[in-house]
Amino acid sequence: MKTPNIIFIMSDDHAAHAISAYGSKINKTPNLDRIAEGGMRLDNCFCTNSICTPSRAAILAGTYNHVNRVTTLVTKMDNQLPTFPKLLQDNGYQTAVFGKWHLGTGPGHCPTGFDDWTVLPDQGRYHNPDFIFKGPDGGTRKLVKGYATDLIADMSLDWLKKRDKDKPFCLLCHHKAPHRNWESDEKHESMYLNEEIPEPETLYDDYKNRASAAEAAEMRVGVHMHEHDLDAEINDNMSENELRKWAYQRYIKRYLRVIASIDDNVGRILDYLDAEGLAEDTVVIYTSDQGFFLGDHGWYDKRFMYEESLRMPFLIRYPREIKPGTANEDMILNVDFAPYFLDLAGIEIPESFQGRNCRPVFNGATPEDWQTSMYYRYWMHKGHNVYAHYGVRTKTHKLIYYYSDGLGQEGAKNETYEPEWELFDLVKDPREMCNVYNDPAYADIAKELTDELHRLQEKVGDERYRKDV
Ligand code: CA
Repeated sequence: MKTPNIIFIMSDDHAAHAISAYGSKINKTPNLDRIAEGGMRLDNCFCTNSICTPSRAAILAGTYNHVNRVTTLVTKMDNQLPTFPKLLQDNGYQTAVFGKWHLGTGPGHCPTGFDDWTVLPDQGRYHNPDFIFKGPDGGTRKLVKGYATDLIADMSLDWLKKRDKDKPFCLLCHHKAPHRNWESDEKHESMYLNEEIPEPETLYDDYKNRASAAEAAEMRVGVHMHEHDLDAEINDNMSENELRKWAYQRYIKRYLRVIASIDDNVGRILDYLDAEGLAEDTVVIYTSDQGFFLGDHGWYDKRFMYEESLRMPFLIRYPREIKPGTANEDMILNVDFAPYFLDLAGIEIPESFQGRNCRPVFNGATPEDWQTSMYYRYWMHKGHNVYAHYGVRTKTHKLIYYYSDGLGQEGAKNETYEPEWELFDLVKDPREMCNVYNDPAYADIAKELTDELHRLQEKVGDERYRKDV
C-alpha cells in the first residue's frame, strides 16, 4: 500500500474546551468537527511542558525537553537535531512548514528537513506580518499584507497545488492564532458582540487549598492583563472579581473570534482534499502546542500542569485506518507524534525518539501495556511568576512537585523557594481545587505516585531536583 500523505495542522494555545467536537460550551467549530466526525477525537492527549517552544521541539524531535534542551521560551532548538520531517524527507516525502516556528531564527535554528518553508519570526503579528522565507543564511525576511491565519492557509494550499503528485507529502500548517493578544480579522470582529459567553466554574477561584504557586501566578484575567489584550481601558476602581467578570467577556470573545478564522481556514484545506480526491490517503491532524486557561482558575495563559493547560486537543482523520466518529481515552503525549509519522512512512523509529508509536491506539487496538501515567516538567521558573515544577498524572490522580528553582536555565529566574507538593484526586475533584497531599487518607496514594514519578524520571532520563524527596 502507498504511504499516506500527512497534514499536521497545529495552532498556538487553542484549548480543547474551545472546540465543539470536545463539547465546548462557548463556541462552535464546524470545520474542526469535520475531522472528528471523519476520524477520532483523543480525550487524553497531553503535552510534556505546557509552553510553545518546548512543546514544538518535543513534537518535532520526539524527545523530552531535558534531552532536546529546549526547556523555556527563549531556548532555541539546534536545527541539526534529528526530527521526523528530516527522516520523512530522506525517505521520499515532500515536506514543508508554514506559519509559526518559534524555535529560533538564523542559520543554526531556522527550519531544516523541509523542501519549502515560510515562518513567522518568533511570535509574529496577526496583521500584515513579516515572514521569513526559505533562503541562504537562515532565510529572507519580508512583510506580507493580510491576516496571518489566512496567509498561512494560503501558503499551505499554494504549496499543495504545486507539489509533485507522484510523491507523498508531509505538510505542517502552523497557525499563530489564537495566541495572545487575540486580534481578530474584519470578517469575525462583530461575532459575539451582543452575547454573554458562559463563565467557567472556577472563574472566581481564590487559590485556597492549593500550594502557594497558584496564588503567586501572574496570569489572572483582568488584573494581569494589559489594555492591548482587551482593546479597552481597564478600570482600576473595580474589585478584583468585578474586573475578572468584565475582562473575561472581552478576553474570551477576542479569543473565540480568532479561532473562528482558524476554523474557516481548516475548512479550506479539507475542501481542497475532497476536491482533489486526496481525503482517503491523507492523515489530517488538528492539534495545538498545549492547552490554555479560558478563565479557568481565573486565568489566561498555560504553564501549569493543571488539566486545562496540560490537555492538547487532538483530532485525527485517516479513512483507510481510523474508524469515523470515534473517541478514545488512552493517554497519548506530544512526544508520541513523531514515532507515529515515521511508522506511517514505513521508517524504522530510531532509538533516540523517546515517544511511543500511537498508531495502534488510533486504529482501535491499544496494546495491553499502553502508558497509563505521564511525566511533565515546566522549567521556566517565574515566567508569569509560575514556579518551576514537575509531576505525574495517572488516569485518576495528579502529583505535582514545585521545586521552584531556575536551575540556570536561560529564560528562567534564578530565585529559589521552598519546594511544595500538590496532589489532586481527579475523580472527586476534576477541577483541581483541593490539594490533598497532606490528607492522611491519601498517604498511600501520595507514596505510590511519588514512586511512579521517580520511575518515569528514570525511564526518560531526567534528574530529580533532590534525591532525598
Ligand atoms: Ca503555545
